[in-house]
Amino acid sequence: MIRIPKQQLYSRKLFDPLVKKASSHKAIAALFVLFVFYLFLPVFCAALLGNKLWIILLIFYPLNIIMAISLAYGNAGKKYRLEIESQGFQERLNILSDANLKGLKSKAALQEKIRRYHSLKEIIENLNRALNTDTVGTSLITIAYSLIANHKGACILYLVDQQNHHLSAFKTKKDDKRLIIKAKEGDIFDFWILRHATPLLIEDARRDFRFDLERLTLQETRPVSSLIGAPLLSEHNFLGILRLDNPVPGFYTQDDLRLLVTICDIGAVALENSELYRKTQDLAIHDGLTSLYTKGYFLERIREEARRSIRQKAVFSLLMLDLDHFKNVNDTLGHTAGDLVLKETSQVLSSFLKNYGAIISRFGGEEFCVILPHVEKKKAHAIAEDLRLKIAEKKINIRGQDTQVSVSIGVTAFPDDTSEENDLILKADMAMYEAKQKGRNKVVCAR
Ligand code: GH3
Ligand code: MG
Ligand code: MG
Repeated sequence: MIRIPKQQLYSRKLFDPLVKKASSHKAIAALFVLFVFYLFLPVFCAALLGNKLWIILLIFYPLNIIMAISLAYGNAGKKYRLEIESQGFQERLNILSDANLKGLKSKAALQEKIRRYHSLKEIIENLNRALNTDTVGTSLITIAYSLIANHKGACILYLVDQQNHHLSAFKTKKDDKRLIIKAKEGDIFDFWILRHATPLLIEDARRDFRFDLERLTLQETRPVSSLIGAPLLSEHNFLGILRLDNPVPGFYTQDDLRLLVTICDIGAVALENSELYRKTQDLAIHDGLTSLYTKGYFLERIREEARRSIRQKAVFSLLMLDLDHFKNVNDTLGHTAGDLVLKETSQVLSSFLKNYGAIISRFGGEEFCVILPHVEKKKAHAIAEDLRLKIAEKKINIRGQDTQVSVSIGVTAFPDDTSEENDLILKADMAMYEAKQKGRNKVVCAR
């Protein structure tokens, strides 16, 4: 609150012009009267009454002195009243300016609230649209950092690994790019939020008895004085923490914490939705038994790979695999054992081909199809040969007995054999059947 200092309040400075103006008029009038009295009246009276001038002067001057004194008193009184009045005005002015300041402050606070709630509406819309965890994380940290932190200090979004329940920094924002956030798995404040599952506001970390600051300085070189943090909680899980910190004490208020909690509540729902969406998408493109890609998704990937190869003038190869006499496995060991063979074979495929950046799918019942990006035909043939041996060597334990299976493999290359995707699959299939005809457990390249 701005107050006018006391000496200024009671000084005449502010209201002197008023007083001066009033008294200068009086003074001019008095001077004029005096002038007339002093110069003309005594002489005029003496001439009129026929008296001697000195007698007139004897009456006239005392009379003048009395008049001058009474005028001076009258003026002083008025001046005093005016000064009292001016002090009254000044005090009313101070009260009014106080009230005005308060009004301005509450107007600014209201405008800030309106701005925040408008942004909140935007966040909800953005988060509802966001379908993947990365977009949700970016939206959350961007909005918290701009809306609450005003782009100052640091903002960290931690996500909890649902397997080991460890925190890990998912997204960060900071005003000073040189500062390094060392505690990537959270610091004492984050662990406090994780333990209590409640929001935290720290006005000055040095004065907060709950935290051992020495432990913090060991963890973090970045100065942290004030902080707010809130958990991202779903109905059953602790999903993460969103926290903001600043080197200035008292930077964050209860209002800021309330807004952060609201953002975290919305964020938790969005994070859960994105996880559900990821799982649904995952289920849609992965085979339930082998976890390899489904045929539908694989066909899309072939088209993509063909387009990229044309664009980049690159090559890729395709392997078509079919288990030999698989029906026998089912017939002799049962369908469950057959499933196990399919699972084990797909694991061999995945582990053997992972270094080639291969895209592997379960193409049919006991058929598998593989894209080998940037691998030309000759190399693909060699890889297929090694793979065939790997599968043939694999011992699968079924009810205490080791079982072995073999595969027949057809190999084609893009664009060597054809630059049309469907034709490529057909040719690989034909090569695979040729391998069957040649006695199975063989690799044949398309011609
Ligand atoms: P070939 O060497 O000529 O390929 O002989 P094959 O017996 O492997 O070929 P065939 O097409 O006659 O048999 C394939 C069998 O694969 C028939 C089917 O019961 C079995 N099969 C397909 N899908 C599954 C599955 O998901 N689980 C199990 N256990 N068997 C499956
Ligand atoms: Mg078969
Ligand atoms: Mg088959």
